[in-house]
Amino acid sequence: MSRAGLTKQHEKKLQDEVYQWLEKKYNTMTFNEYQKTAITTAVYPPQHRILYPALGLSGEAGEVANKVKKVVRDGTGSMPDDWKEQIGSEIGDVLWYCATLANDLGLSLSSIAEQNQKKLQRRKEKGTIHGSGDSR
Ligand SMILES: [Mg+2]
Repeated sequence: MSRAGLTKQHEKKLQDEVYQWLEKKYNTMTFNEYQKTAITTAVYPPQHRILYPALGLSGEAGEVANKVKKVVRDGTGSMPDDWKEQIGSEIGDVLWYCATLANDLGLSLSSIAEQNQKKLQRRKEKGTIHGSGDSR
């Protein structure tokens, strides 16, 4: 039972209904919908599943960091007008690799996002957001 007195099954059903309502109202995409679409463009040799998206994820995270580094180095004055959109595009590339890597591991992007949020909320409630270690 959840805090609201719902079973896990009812909680999941309610959550799905909320997501469907939000999607209709705001035309948003859930993580799982994104993942389903992302894997349709995942074209790499099957023997390199997991490895290919893991390496790509690292490379794209580097592209995000490199663009932010240039803002730090030069300020925004010399940046192209669309510098935020460019960084956003690189974040999108990171997301694509997250989605495909999760798929190769048989994991749902929505579940990963939800588990991550729960972990961070637990840390916040325990006052362990700062610090290091996976088991905080
Ligand atoms: Mg890129």
